[in-house]
Amino acid sequence: MQELTHFINGNHVNGTSGRFSNVYNPAIGEVQAQCPMASDYETNEAVKEAAKAQVAWGATNPQRRARVMMAMVGLINLNMEKLAEALSREHGKTLPDAKGDLQRGLEVIEYCIGAPQMLKGEYTDDAGPGIDMFSMRQPLGVVAAIMPFNFPAMMPLWHVGPALACGNAVVLKPSERDPSVPLMLAELFVEAGLPKGVFQVVNGDKEAVDALLCSELIQGVSFVGSTPVAQYIYSRATANGKRAQCFGGAKNHLVVMPDADIDQAADALVGSGYGAAGERCMAVSVAVPVGEETADRLIEKLVPRIERLRVAPYTSGDDVDFGPVVTPESKERILDLIQSGVDQGAELVVDNRNFTLQGYENGFFVGPHLFDRVTPDMDIYKKEIFGPVLSCVRAGSYEEAIGLAMHHEYGNGVAIFTRDGDTARDFTHRINIGMVGINVPIPVPLAYHTFGGWKKSMFGDLNQHGPDSFRFYTRTKTVTARWPSGIKEGGEFNFRAME
Ligand code: NAD
Repeated sequence: MQELTHFINGNHVNGTSGRFSNVYNPAIGEVQAQCPMASDYETNEAVKEAAKAQVAWGATNPQRRARVMMAMVGLINLNMEKLAEALSREHGKTLPDAKGDLQRGLEVIEYCIGAPQMLKGEYTDDAGPGIDMFSMRQPLGVVAAIMPFNFPAMMPLWHVGPALACGNAVVLKPSERDPSVPLMLAELFVEAGLPKGVFQVVNGDKEAVDALLCSELIQGVSFVGSTPVAQYIYSRATANGKRAQCFGGAKNHLVVMPDADIDQAADALVGSGYGAAGERCMAVSVAVPVGEETADRLIEKLVPRIERLRVAPYTSGDDVDFGPVVTPESKERILDLIQSGVDQGAELVVDNRNFTLQGYENGFFVGPHLFDRVTPDMDIYKKEIFGPVLSCVRAGSYEEAIGLAMHHEYGNGVAIFTRDGDTARDFTHRINIGMVGINVPIPVPLAYHTFGGWKKSMFGDLNQHGPDSFRFYTRTKTVTARWPSGIKEGGEFNFRAME
């Protein structure tokens, strides 16, 4: 059995706490590695070392830091196949999905090559007689990134990249369910020229996280994961005086107007609802057709498409639509929620509760499910299922449809499918959700915009990647300077004399 490590000061280091958690290959349902769970002591030691390393890194000029990012882009591309295979093996997602996971992370590293431009600061010449004023962006120091299982490459890269580019040291606490790719990325950063100790990977659970939240050396905390943990981490981190951005769960609606291209809407729902087995924070889990006739047409289009989906391990070729879910506990939780939908009166139009895959009977596969006539009081509507389950809530009018999305406690992403510009514009302006798609089902902003939800999908002020990430990982210092010699007549640098 493989024993995974932490990554401290540029080396793989064995855990010493004696505690481990299982890492599965979800396709075959077997434990393939043991992940060490760091103790409070191990975590604090890693933070101390990061704080030492940060001093020189923070003083390194931004262009040199950007060169590390540039080298990292090359290394990720060079190692794409190996990284994707390791990612699929632990997570279960298909190889094209694993490459997408890496690619969307890579794009943020590419964006970080622009760090010198982003960190330039502001300057006012002659703010007063002989007075200049300038603002500079300085790193926070050591920051922590506590990440979820569902994008084991993209999520760490979204945070580690900008944090390092800004001159911080980072302590990454990956998900204990798929920690191998983050460890491989840490190795690649060292190969790219990052000084040892600036990027530490501490594997673990609540004990390691609590140590990070209590450490006086940690200045900022980025968290991505479920809402209850996001709320806990945000309140604890901010109570301890740290800057925090905590991104939580989601329940993304896709409204289908009567004038929408129904084939396009059905394709979009199938791709965004079932891709990556629904384990995406931007997965669409609720379809909201407006009017009974739209709903009937949509269900008619959806059913055959869903029945054609190919569920298989990542090793079964490129035409696999989605693989298993990540752990046996996830599978059980999803099946329990599906059962609750049946018990609470929703119509299970595509029922795969007895799904098994020949040769992979122990894998954590969940077949695709479609519920119709779901109502807002049902658990399958209220809760994030994070599995291959789509719920159809029939709305009588546009107002009812927009009201549903607006009243849901989550506010990560939303989409509307329509041909009507006025409706799309009204929807975009009124909706209280962070990321909006118009005839686009998963409106994930690109690296140079920012990514973040509203309501219980986000706690904090600044989003992930884009300009917000450079704001989050730096502090502004504003300097007012007066140089009396600068206003002397005839002085060597008296530019006024030239006017
Ligand atoms: P999770 O909340 O179970 O775990 C996330 C991280 O928190 C992990 O590193 C885990 O070890 C740690 N953790 C778990 N319980 C903890 C506790 N009690 N105290 C301290 N730390 C704890 O989330 P997950 O299952 O890994 O990820 C799926 C969730 O992430 C979904 O809800 C999904 O919507 C969300 N997500 C959100 C975004 C976003 O940008 N909003 C992006 C990706 C995933």
